[in-house]
Amino acid sequence: MDRGLIPEDIINRIRDRADIVEVVSAHLSLSKAGQNFKGLCPFHSEKTPSFIVSPSRQMFHCFGCGEGGNVFTLLMKVEGASFPTAVRNLGEKYGIRVEEKPASPAAKQRAEQVERLVELNKAAAEFFHKTLLKDPPAEPARVYLKQRGITAETIERFGIGYAPQAWDGVLKALTKGGKQAKGGWTVEDLAAAGLIVARDQGGKKPGDASGYYDRFRGRVILPIRDLQKRVIGFGGRVIDDGVPKYLNSPETPLFRKGRTLYGLEIAREGITREEQVVIVEGYFDAIALHQAGVTNVVATLGTALTSEHVDLVRRFTRRVVLLFDPDAAGVRAALRTLDLFLGSALAVQVGSLPQGEDPDTFVRSRGPEAFTTLIRQSPSLLDFTVAGSLATGLQGSVEDRVRCVEEVLALLQKLSNPVEKAAALHHVADRLGLDEKVLVERYRQLTSHASVVDHASGDASVGPVESAPLPKDEEVLVRLLLHDKLTPPMLAQLAADDFTDPRARRLIGLILERRNERGEPAVNEAIISLQDDPQCGGVVRALSLSELPYDDAGTAFRDSLKALRLRRIVDEIQEVKAAQMAAERAGQAEAARSLMLRQNTLQQERQRLLSAGPVPLSEVGSVNA
Ligand SMILES: [Zn+2]
Repeated sequence: MDRGLIPEDIINRIRDRADIVEVVSAHLSLSKAGQNFKGLCPFHSEKTPSFIVSPSRQMFHCFGCGEGGNVFTLLMKVEGASFPTAVRNLGEKYGIRVEEKPASPAAKQRAEQVERLVELNKAAAEFFHKTLLKDPPAEPARVYLKQRGITAETIERFGIGYAPQAWDGVLKALTKGGKQAKGGWTVEDLAAAGLIVARDQGGKKPGDASGYYDRFRGRVILPIRDLQKRVIGFGGRVIDDGVPKYLNSPETPLFRKGRTLYGLEIAREGITREEQVVIVEGYFDAIALHQAGVTNVVATLGTALTSEHVDLVRRFTRRVVLLFDPDAAGVRAALRTLDLFLGSALAVQVGSLPQGEDPDTFVRSRGPEAFTTLIRQSPSLLDFTVAGSLATGLQGSVEDRVRCVEEVLALLQKLSNPVEKAAALHHVADRLGLDEKVLVERYRQLTSHASVVDHASGDASVGPVESAPLPKDEEVLVRLLLHDKLTPPMLAQLAADDFTDPRARRLIGLILERRNERGEPAVNEAIISLQDDPQCGGVVRALSLSELPYDDAGTAFRDSLKALRLRRIVDEIQEVKAAQMAAERAGQAEAARSLMLRQNTLQQERQRLLSAGPVPLSEVGSVNA
């Protein structure tokens, strides 16, 4: 998480001072439930509350959708604020001044540059907008927008403007012919913002306005804004047959196409309400849909979707609809996108419009309900790509069909649900007129190869999905630890290495490592610092907020630890056995003998664990000695 330049102790002070119940209450209504508070989750739709806020832990967690974190996370998710903004706003509310660390000269210069860009873009957007509304030469643009059915209200809402058909329109307006005007802008500023472009310099001095010309000429201008509603760049569309049809600002320290979605600052509310985002490809597609009342729509800026886009969207919803053409190009685009969304835990559908229609024409001729219905009935991304591949495969030569089979099988590998997978294989075999057995066999070959590859690249060690439960015994122990139910002798028995789940290992390790001045594990502190952790945050929140189901913590602890250690011993016995057999085969008698002895010791320990009822822990503790 980008912590900006805010010192850690200020962040901690604000978090300690802030009352998460109060902050949440500003956004939804909570009712008391035991030590905690309960409400309807703002991140998914539900009728009975599963959204829990804990004043003692200063965190929130939804048992329905798994969202959760601390007070900063909450503000970031609900208000779409960045981390530094959330900290600053909260600091203000609770009277803690946020003084940033003295920035390095380079960082300072960068911050100033960004601030200047923001101001300049704002001035430019105002100029373009005024030009569109008032300038007589902007008449063709007004006619164009009217023909596209764009209303005055929409023009206002999206801040649409017009760049005059001149080489020095914005240049003159903002710099007064190279001299500093009211805003104090220089040609260098305008060039840095990408509003003007350098001519072939030909010996001209820098700073000379005649060395530059306007980037946007005779185009309808669409200001691109970030979530804080700052104008970060512009898109310009020709109003005649000129090329290129669309032109964007170049990338600047403020503007990155790969992490920006057009209209998100306006669509945010609609996305939260509909619990879904629709991603289209064109500015005017997004604008037209908004105008028609479909308000959960954003557009990419003429670039392919990136993983940064996916992260951005995930802050607001887990359901995504992509609009692709149903033609071959659309299927290829969907294929590329599939990899991006795999493992993202987002549900992705692909909507496709009838041939010859775009969202703009579709919603204008058939209305918003028809569009919503189309979205609702759209297939999942995987189904869409499989169907698309099959369609191309069926039309082609034998070779095409073979390639299509391989392509589809590679896609099916990405399905994690075995039932879905079997059904899909059946469907594919059917469509291609192939024997299902042959297809399944080929699929097996492909997958066995793939799993070897995954293992080698380390993908297999990524670990389980965050929200998956821990193994039973590990869960009991983690839960007891998080509820602070373990006495010092019990704690002394706990070792991260006894746990198999990577999340449990990590959090046990971290909690045991972090001791307070009396040498006890600082559980609450650890919970606070881990509640946002991408790997084990979900487990920490869920287990520390749910009720403790054991009557006797001591017995629960002993039983679970015993089971854990038994499993570990059994695993080790298997390993030693295998090593012993290998040593025997290799004729290493000495090694084989010592492995045999080790095996005996382990067997004895296993017997002791099994036969003793509730084993005195001190004895069990000798296992690893
Ligand atoms: Zn929820």
